[in-house]
Amino acid sequence: MTAQISIQGVGKTFPGRNGSAAFTALSDISLEIPENEFVCLLGPSGCGKSTLLGLLAGHELPTGGSVGVGGKPVEGPAADRGMVFQQYALFPWYTVAQNVRLGLKVKGLSRAAQEAQAERMLRAVSLWDHRDKFPRELSGGMKQRAAIARTLAIDPDVLLMDEPFGALDEQTRNRLQDELLAIWQGNRRTVVFVTHSVQEAVTLADRVIVMGRDQGRIVADLRISLDRPRDRMSLDFVEAEREVSQALEQAEAAAPGDRAA
Ligand code: ADP
Ligand code: MG
Repeated sequence: MTAQISIQGVGKTFPGRNGSAAFTALSDISLEIPENEFVCLLGPSGCGKSTLLGLLAGHELPTGGSVGVGGKPVEGPAADRGMVFQQYALFPWYTVAQNVRLGLKVKGLSRAAQEAQAERMLRAVSLWDHRDKFPRELSGGMKQRAAIARTLAIDPDVLLMDEPFGALDEQTRNRLQDELLAIWQGNRRTVVFVTHSVQEAVTLADRVIVMGRDQGRIVADLRISLDRPRDRMSLDFVEAEREVSQALEQAEAAAPGDRAA
């Protein structure tokens, strides 16, 4: 079986502007992700996580190598890939339900089908009772639930999440992690989830990819084989956290240009 996501020798260099030098955010990244795997990308700030996710989303094109999803090269954004950002990206002038229906309308679903799908998703994220509220009336956690419902409603094959819970308090974050996992376990799909929380990665992932400071180099590729739901207090969990933390410390320590692994 071919990988759902195939990143081969990918580089991304941003051109310099106004006389500044060009900047290479990623160079020669290769990564294969099979269908339905839940992958967390972890790494120091500025290491290229969002850049890589942007390439998968098709918001940017690589300057080297190839990015493929579902056996086809990524040439731009498409409905087979859904993105959730840290900042909720809801339309402020639409209600929660309207925000969720929007993508379905674009997809060409009938009004009745839009409503049925929106209801299913809003119930899954416990927002059905708040469906007629506007984003400004919601807490951060609720806004992020709405953003997730909107993206999942489109039923993408690949879910791309860029620190979606990064702005939330710990309790809310833990609850949303559990909800996301429940939804994912009920309807598996490939997930690439960027975080800089070790605990979040160990809670969620089948596999944790640790990126180093040095042009997004992959410094560790770790499998988390704990049963779900995972008990964040269990010894096995803490042991997995330790393993991931050590890899992350090495990633943090690696100076630019230091290629010794
Ligand atoms: P992360 O998400 O891991 O924090 P990013 O992928 O956002 O990191 O950024 C990686 C590096 O690429 C950073 O040094 C950032 O400043 C740079 N970068 C990101 N986007 C651009 C851009 N559009 N133009 C120039 N440099 C960029
Ligand atoms: Mg980022």
